[in-house]
Amino acid sequence: MYRLIFIMAAFFLYCCSAPERKDDTQKEITGIPAVSKSSISFRIAPALSLPESRFKELLDLFDKYKGVTDEITLFTNVTHAPLPLDSIRNRSVIFKQRMEQARARGYRAGINVLTTIGHHNENLENSLQGVFEHITNIEGQISQGSLCPNDPSVQEYIKDQYRIVTEAKPDYIWIDDDVRFGHMPVGLGCFCNNCLRIFKEETGKEYNRDMLKKALNTGGQKEKQEIREKWLQHNRNTLSRLFKLIEETVHSIQPEMPLGFMTGDRFFEGYDFDNWADFLAGTAGKEVMWRPGGGYYTDFNNGGLAGKSHDIGRQVSLLPRHITSIQSEIECFPYQRLQKAAGMVALEAASHIAAGCTGAAFNVFTMTDEPLNEYEPLIAKLYTMRPFYDLMVKCLGRDSLSGIQTFWNKNSAVTANLVAGNWLDMPFPVTNHTIYDIGMPAAYSNKDPAVTMLSGNSIFAMSREEIEKLLSTPVYMDAEALQQINDMGFGELTGFEVVKSEDKDQIEKLTDHPLNKDFAGRERDCRQSFYKSSAFTLKATDNKAQSLSRLIDYSGKVTGVIAMGIFENKKGGRICVSGYYPWTFQENLSRSAQMKSVFRWLSGDRLPGYIGSYHKINLWVREPVDGKTALAFTNSSFDPAENVTLMLRTKSKKIRVYDMGAKETSVSSSGTDGPYEKFIIPFVDPWQMRLVVTE
Ligand SMILES: [Zn+2]
Repeated sequence: MYRLIFIMAAFFLYCCSAPERKDDTQKEITGIPAVSKSSISFRIAPALSLPESRFKELLDLFDKYKGVTDEITLFTNVTHAPLPLDSIRNRSVIFKQRMEQARARGYRAGINVLTTIGHHNENLENSLQGVFEHITNIEGQISQGSLCPNDPSVQEYIKDQYRIVTEAKPDYIWIDDDVRFGHMPVGLGCFCNNCLRIFKEETGKEYNRDMLKKALNTGGQKEKQEIREKWLQHNRNTLSRLFKLIEETVHSIQPEMPLGFMTGDRFFEGYDFDNWADFLAGTAGKEVMWRPGGGYYTDFNNGGLAGKSHDIGRQVSLLPRHITSIQSEIECFPYQRLQKAAGMVALEAASHIAAGCTGAAFNVFTMTDEPLNEYEPLIAKLYTMRPFYDLMVKCLGRDSLSGIQTFWNKNSAVTANLVAGNWLDMPFPVTNHTIYDIGMPAAYSNKDPAVTMLSGNSIFAMSREEIEKLLSTPVYMDAEALQQINDMGFGELTGFEVVKSEDKDQIEKLTDHPLNKDFAGRERDCRQSFYKSSAFTLKATDNKAQSLSRLIDYSGKVTGVIAMGIFENKKGGRICVSGYYPWTFQENLSRSAQMKSVFRWLSGDRLPGYIGSYHKINLWVREPVDGKTALAFTNSSFDPAENVTLMLRTKSKKIRVYDMGAKETSVSSSGTDGPYEKFIIPFVDPWQMRLVVTE
């Protein structure tokens, strides 16, 4: 997941004015830069870079599989609290030599600052000592391993650290994901006294920690939203100042130095990626790189793979188009080889490219000084993948994804625990679901998605005007979102209201509505007594609203007239409300087929493509460019997928299909269904991806 009187005075002048934010309208991109190949790096621990013989062994391994990487990125440290400056200085002397050795063999080489402010408590005895403000939670507890980036002494330390690594003349410098506000063991921060003083300068109101906690969590919903939004902006400003500090320090020494930043889903930080990218580029607009990441450390539970790609897709969707080096974080921490199969590491990089990246940063090697032979099969596997990664990036480039968006925006964090509970114990503010796993096209930007999915409190991240506008577009929502929207006075646009909810023994039964096709009468029993979720009964409030399913109990008696329904409102917005397990258990044939049918109707056949056959597949489709469409999909099942039917909204009658060995086959259309051509791909092995390009 950072001299006193004079500095304090200067500091307050500095922090009282938030860095200037650019108007979003200035950032509309007219041209999309072409990216000709993937950008691949490996991140290397000091145990492999500092000993000369071990580093030579590493370079020999890369040379044996020449082309497996473009870049070799040296971690400053392996433990997660900030390093003393002397350690950074001593190591940088050696890093400079190692980077020269890497360049002599044809690699770009740079430095990854693992701890700008520090991740958490680890190896504190050998880490930075001194009088620093530490990341502080709302209760006043501190993380000894993380520094407050608003402390002037910390800022001096950060400047010194970046000055030292810049003077080692790397080709680029990466800032790691310790630059965030969630740090073990204290959770979300920073609520140190100094940060509260800055908040007072920003808002004009003084809080101590108790008062602020109360204001964030009690009182009216509107008041809670307002102060939470202000705190998100405070966090955005803090990180903007930090990036400005780093940028000015580095570029005053090496004006052309590319800077990269590693992220995760940064909801509490205010998700200000586009503005932070501008601060890292500086006023001269130098190159910025990005490394979106998330947690998927083993292949013990493979649902995490597509889940991480969705996290990464969200992160990429905010990045300015001129950022072309977007290397997904591929991490197998703590790097024990049998935790994740080489084939899954290979697929993971491809999956994240499908979701928007242009490359990968592999953090897969040992952290200790030991022979590398156990890693060679992984390097050999990744070497075989390089042509596929290059081909994917050449075909997909930085083109936008088109499809179904699970609603989120930069203010989504305010919606967490909004009705009740402690905001600072916030759950993840975006619904996790398996709808994408049945072959639906994932998209992450809220700019004109084919369909928007709304859950629970997610609407509270929008203004009334934004909600009203959204309801004139295709929306799939759960019953909680319906209730919230109706309560805000938009009931006329939803067509339904919630009548009741039951916590047990309900089964969904499909009606004979045409969108249910051959599945009228089929049942979906998600076993409420095991998998807790309320079943909502809906009522139509407009005579144009139609029922797609009802609820029955275990005797077959109808207990709810409408469980799921559709409605087209007077603004042209098509709405579907699902009151029974709207986000999970989508995997039986009848539900899977129904959802594809419903989403086609919702979008008015604007889905760019989907998997028409009954398979467990994750799909990412790019906006067409010059009439050509490119997409990628994964068979996310342990079974082979036979006769995968790709429904594609295109005028092309033929597609080229590439397997992960970059081997090409050609598939002709088997017919049409509305604006969709139907392409049947005969066979896809388990956990394999295909790249598809229309001819
Ligand atoms: Zn602080």
